Amino acid sequence: MEYFDLPTSTSSSSSSTASQATGWRGTQHATITLEEGEENVPTPVGTPLDHPNAISISTAFHPSLAVDDCPPDIIIVSSDNVHFYTHRHRLLAASANRMGNLIPSDDAEASATPITVAMPHPSPVVNIILHTMYGQSCVHYLPTLEMVEVALDALALSYGVPIQPSALPNQPIYTLLLSFAPYRPLDAYAVAGKHGLEEAAVAISSHLLAYDLARLPDSVSQKMGALYLKRLFLLHQSRLIALRNILYKPPATHPPTVMCNEVSQQRMLRAWAFAVAQLVWDVLPSASTSALQALLEPVGAAIDCPYCLAALHRRVQEVVYEWSAVKSPDI
Ligand SMILES: [Zn+2]
Repeated sequence: MEYFDLPTSTSSSSSSTASQATGWRGTQHATITLEEGEENVPTPVGTPLDHPNAISISTAFHPSLAVDDCPPDIIIVSSDNVHFYTHRHRLLAASANRMGNLIPSDDAEASATPITVAMPHPSPVVNIILHTMYGQSCVHYLPTLEMVEVALDALALSYGVPIQPSALPNQPIYTLLLSFAPYRPLDAYAVAGKHGLEEAAVAISSHLLAYDLARLPDSVSQKMGALYLKRLFLLHQSRLIALRNILYKPPATHPPTVMCNEVSQQRMLRAWAFAVAQLVWDVLPSASTSALQALLEPVGAAIDCPYCLAALHRRVQEVVYEWSAVKSPDI
């Protein structure tokens, strides 16, 4: 998240200096500190206790942010004392309950002087909440999945903001959740399931084909809910059934020849059946086509007949083609 640290003093006519410091994951802060009788010295962003004369201001929601030609009229202060300058009309348009009644209904006074509202969440969570309410992406702040989950819970349960529209493909929450899919697919899927964000859950589930469902923790199952748990199992099951159906069709036989009669052809069919039985037992729904190819081609190792070998080769190619055509995740 990007913040400015600004002095609370009103005599800030001197120039300011910006620097960056690290904070939350992926957080960047610009620091502007004014001390009495000193030059402005860039300092790392700390707690208000470290710098009692400084406050932190979000650079995304800063005092100059005009929206629909309106200056900010509500200052939201996070639990770690970062100030977010926001717009009453945007917040009210997104929230069905005046943000859990945090926003007072006294419109007349609010237009004259910005009011200050405290939110009980840390700034990275408030940042996600506000970006979502403004329909903006905050994926570049790299919040943790835990922060995203807290923000989604707060939006849906406390602040009367429906999050499903923001979780449609290419919308902010969808993009944010998908950003966790490559390395935390199960947790991201559970968060999506918890809030019934179907499109996001479907997209994330393509990263779960290799997951061993036997290891699914109770807490995660509980979080995603019965419906999305069932869909995850069905996804795995349907892929395995599709694979089984593809594999159970053996290579074609050929008319008996001098060197390969029906009995010898049975040998190849038995070798195929044996390989398939092993595959079906071991294989995951995420099996790659090249892995299947590598497991099936050795079936021809002990076969001399060129017709049988050609039929085996054709069948392996068909398996590869059919498996690659199996539609992935449509839960
Ligand atoms: Zn043959």
